[in-house]
Amino acid sequence: MANNTNSRGRSDKCSFCGREKRDVNLLIAGIDGHICDRCAEQAHSILQEELKKEGSFDLGGIKLLKPREIKSFLDQYVIGQEQAKKIISVAVYNHYKRLSQRIDEDETEIEKSNIILVGETGTGKTLLARTIARMLHVPFTIVDATVLTEAGYVGEDIESLLTRLLQAADYNVEAAEKGIVFIDEIDKIARKGDNPSITRDVSGEGVQQGLLKLLEGSIVNVPPQGGRKHPEQKMIPVNTKNILFICGGAFDGIERKIAQRLNTKVIGYSAARESEKIERDNLLQYIAPQDLKAFGMIPEIIGRLPVLTYLDPLDHDTLRKILTEPKNSIIRQYVKLFDLDQIPLQFEEEALSFIVDKAVEFKLGARGLRSICETIMIDAMFNSPSLEKKPITVTRDYAEEKLGHFSANRLKAS
Ligand code: ADP
Repeated sequence: MANNTNSRGRSDKCSFCGREKRDVNLLIAGIDGHICDRCAEQAHSILQEELKKEGSFDLGGIKLLKPREIKSFLDQYVIGQEQAKKIISVAVYNHYKRLSQRIDEDETEIEKSNIILVGETGTGKTLLARTIARMLHVPFTIVDATVLTEAGYVGEDIESLLTRLLQAADYNVEAAEKGIVFIDEIDKIARKGDNPSITRDVSGEGVQQGLLKLLEGSIVNVPPQGGRKHPEQKMIPVNTKNILFICGGAFDGIERKIAQRLNTKVIGYSAARESEKIERDNLLQYIAPQDLKAFGMIPEIIGRLPVLTYLDPLDHDTLRKILTEPKNSIIRQYVKLFDLDQIPLQFEEEALSFIVDKAVEFKLGARGLRSICETIMIDAMFNSPSLEKKPITVTRDYAEEKLGHFSANRLKAS
């Protein structure tokens, strides 16, 4: 029989509701009292409610850092990309400053500073957006522009883009309305060809027109479960006025448009401009809104993405830094994984250099670093937890041997 009395001869009971031990499923003992399962559950839900009220996503909770501080935060995670980091820091600062602005009748209203990032794939566009969201603790979502189509066509409706944001905010509409949406592959909805075509361009201009509504700030009816709208579904109205949109795209071939524009300009200004030497191998740094137009983005969209910046391609040095320097760099993650098994792990410089060489050789960029490391480390991760705990050093020979059997194609697929 269960013994309901303690050493002092008194029966144990919940210090909150007074129920005796025999009347509850579980009684948890504290230093000077007890709590029963029901009270613990109730306390938990009170806590949840209170936290929701305080709102971890609430703007009140956003500690608005100054642009230099925002950049230092980004520096911890994103290597290089100095210009992009600087421009984003200012845009984000202004955006959230704008949110905290009380608008008086005659006061200047600060316009929203949606951002567009142009750069090769794998150079850190998503990482930048994600890091900003992490810093601000606001709901964040990544959507791919390629799945969007005009209403009435197969694919997802534009509004479904906000469904993901609502989901990221646990359906807290107020929080979602201050969130960040990263729209990837925005270049894929460019109009094909420079001339507006007479035939309808399903994947292009129509989608851009639809997107416009979201970017400029309006109340949008969002299907809570996403996908296609259907009449019976109850919609959630979301105001996009304060949602920060960050768009990213590789804009393959845009260098040609930039070069064309620069060339015309150079002729116009003749010799006086000679001194401004153009770096031909990184034309992206000269990108201007008219190049996006030449690429097939409609002027209204460009107007709604006033902050335009570019990302540099990643060279050997940058890739080497990406391996070890970011706060949660790939190598630090492996060291941590092994450390949890009390196995000290280190990489020789030569091994790191080899990994970078392979990423460059296979043209895999920063994305390839992880798959290469994974291939090199898989045997050690499989075996060492069961073996005697000895320090491990990854040498170049070891890395070469482990990578030896794998082809770039296989790595690409992983
Ligand atoms: P993009 O969006 O430009 O295609 P991502 O931001 O998704 O590229 O980058 C892919 C991965 O490569 C990231 O998860 C990150 O680990 C790494 N990476 C890319 N660029 C950088 C960078 N500049 N600094 C640190 N890591 C980077």
